[in-house]
Amino acid sequence: MAEDNSISLVVVIFDANPVWWGRIAAEGTKNQINLSGCIDSLLVMCNSHLMMKHTNSLAFIASHTSRSKFLFPKESKADDNIGEQENSFPSDSKCEKFAAMNDMIVEEIKELIADVNLPEDSNNPASALPSALCMALCYIHRMEKECPVGFKLKPRILIVKASPDEADQYLTTMNCIFAAQKNNVIIDSCSLHQSSGFLQQAADVTGGVYLKIDETLSLLQHLLWLYLPGHHTRDMLVLPSSQDIDYRAACFCHRKLVDIGFVCSVCLSIYCHFRPRCMTCQTLFKLPSLPLSRQKKKKK
Ligand SMILES: [Zn+2]
Ligand SMILES: [Zn+2]
Repeated sequence: MAEDNSISLVVVIFDANPVWWGRIAAEGTKNQINLSGCIDSLLVMCNSHLMMKHTNSLAFIASHTSRSKFLFPKESKADDNIGEQENSFPSDSKCEKFAAMNDMIVEEIKELIADVNLPEDSNNPASALPSALCMALCYIHRMEKECPVGFKLKPRILIVKASPDEADQYLTTMNCIFAAQKNNVIIDSCSLHQSSGFLQQAADVTGGVYLKIDETLSLLQHLLWLYLPGHHTRDMLVLPSSQDIDYRAACFCHRKLVDIGFVCSVCLSIYCHFRPRCMTCQTLFKLPSLPLSRQKKKKK
């Protein structure tokens, strides 16, 4: 497969939004995966990734409604970090370590979901995807700094998301995606139940794979087929044909996704209607004397 001196780091971001998963459970549809099924599938994939090569490394982050939590490896305990390269030499206790990792992730997710502080006014609280992405990028950055001499880190992020996109998070999410692109971090994304414009763009910008899974019960097959192989192995696979990507941007004034908008010619802020002054950079746009429509900018 890949060269010997590479460390393949996968950071899994799991959308553990309790509102969304609770809704799925309440609907009780037989042909939809539930929360525990989804976690089980992810853990099988994580274990497979670690088993494929002794230098493979893993981190697991859960994004909740109001915050994200780093579930694995735990920062404080040096004896738990099987995901870290130096401590992951094959040993007889490997299986026990897997079990410990699985238990730790499951316990942490239980704790996270039990400790729910939902905003009361909202029926549809969004998952904190941008914060999870930031944590993943920071962790990858740290791992790159700590990478042993002669080794090369090959990081990628796998996002498994179930809840719908939140237009409010457009800016922060896109900033994270561009930061990932700049750092050569691939973002693979897997959307359950509904398509996600954010994840499509993330995969498109960073060269990852995006898939919307309709048959969510087959999540594990998709994870093992599409997301377990590294970037280079994928060239040899038949990947799903790319779907139409939703490139709509959110306006800076109302955080609504817009098809056609106005763009500040100085700072590239996007607005859904004409503004004489840019909210971001405060540039004033002079209007012509008579035809005051489309003087400055129009876009897309
Ligand atoms: Zn607007
Ligand atoms: Zn501006």
